[in-house]
Amino acid sequence: MYTIDNSNFKFDKNIPPALTLPSGSTVKFITKDCFTNQITAENYEDALSGDFNWDQMNPTTGPLSIEGAKPGDVLRVEIQSIALTGEDAVLMTGKGLGACADHFDKLETRVVKVRGGVVEFSPEIQIPIRPMIGVIGVAPQGEPINNGWPGDHGANMDCKEIIEGTTLYLPVFVEGGLLSIGDLHGVMGDGECCGTGAEMPGEVVVKVDLLKDCKLPLPFLETGDRYIAIYSAKTADDAIQGAVRNGVDFLMANYSMSRFDAITLVSLAMDVRICQIVDPLVTSRLEIPKKLVAGFKK
Ligand code: CA
Ligand code: CA
Repeated sequence: MYTIDNSNFKFDKNIPPALTLPSGSTVKFITKDCFTNQITAENYEDALSGDFNWDQMNPTTGPLSIEGAKPGDVLRVEIQSIALTGEDAVLMTGKGLGACADHFDKLETRVVKVRGGVVEFSPEIQIPIRPMIGVIGVAPQGEPINNGWPGDHGANMDCKEIIEGTTLYLPVFVEGGLLSIGDLHGVMGDGECCGTGAEMPGEVVVKVDLLKDCKLPLPFLETGDRYIAIYSAKTADDAIQGAVRNGVDFLMANYSMSRFDAITLVSLAMDVRICQIVDPLVTSRLEIPKKLVAGFKK
């Protein structure tokens, strides 16, 4: 299998591809944690006081260029496996980070053990792991975008449903698409309220297919039982509205539904959720149960 193991800190069309492969290829991305593995079980209590390099946040592995990918095409990224590396996960919150940012005097970190399929949060609290990808996206058409941002190009969406067995659809803005992946979490709740998940390095295996005529509202996720429209915007209001509108567009384009049908069905039987509230844009998603819409004619 092809493997990529490097670090970049922005989505940028000028970063040369680590690999260029045909559509249908399967690739392993070896990823560092969102601190570029600078915080460890040994140093975490004073990791931030030393020579911690804040320019190395949110490294991504890549980019993978897909032969023949042109602006307007879509990359279909099947997430075949997510394996976490090691037994340590880093948590961080504090001044300037997360929903309680102004209740702290400084940033604080902790390292917790991840063993036997659980995050050992405390002797009393064990959280089953659910490995997910925080950052997965493509190079934008224009200026480079720091890895900390989510957007139309995907990237730091921190959507806890981007897990093994799901398929993510991303737009192609530049030749090759230029897919990069990083920021794995052993587990994370909706909102990512402290500013981090259980941050861990790992290995992601994806199969990437190039779609030439795909009209999905992007970024778009498919799981075993749901379609998920994802949207990022400056405010939670706008992120939620964008996700709902993209979901309505998907329903109207793919099923025999009017706009009235689609938005009322959303209102009665679908859930809009928050992916994360801690990045420069808020990310929201609308979940569309496949079973619910299966009866509508395509
Ligand atoms: Ca993230
Ligand atoms: Ca993270």
